[in-house]
Amino acid sequence: MNLKVTSLLKLYILLLLYEGPKHGYELIKNLEDKLGQKPSSSHIYPFLKKLQNAGFVELKEVGEREKKTYRLTQSGKKWVEGLLERMSDLITIAVEPHLSVCASCGCKIFEGGHTEEIDGTVLAFCCEHCARAYMRTMK
Ligand SMILES: [Zn+2]
Repeated sequence: MNLKVTSLLKLYILLLLYEGPKHGYELIKNLEDKLGQKPSSSHIYPFLKKLQNAGFVELKEVGEREKKTYRLTQSGKKWVEGLLERMSDLITIAVEPHLSVCASCGCKIFEGGHTEEIDGTVLAFCCEHCARAYMRTMK
C-alpha cells in the first residue's frame, strides 16, 4: 500500500479527522478556513477514498438525513500519530540550526531570551541571570 501525504491539504485532512469525525462538507469548510481558499473537492474525495481503501478511514451514514461522516479507524489514528511524530522530528531539524545558544549555560534559546552588549559584541543568553553570571566571570 502506497499512501503518501504530499500536500498541506492532505495533512490538514488528516489532522481534522484526528480531531474527530467530520462530514464531507464540514471537512471542506474547515479546510477553507485553514488554507484561506476553497479547496477543490477533486483533491479531497480521492484522498479520502484512498484512506478508506487502506482501512484508515471509515465512512458512516449517521442521523436522519444519513449524512456521510468520515472517521479515522484505530489503525488510521496510529498511522497519523506515527506521521506526526516523524514530522515533529523534521521540524526540530529545520528549527534547531536557527536557534541561538546561551553564551553562559549553552542551552538553546527558543524564544525571548536576553541579549547583552559586552565590549561591543551582542551576546545572547537564555535569561538575565545567565547574562549576569557570564559578566561576573568576565571580570
Ligand atoms: Zn543560559
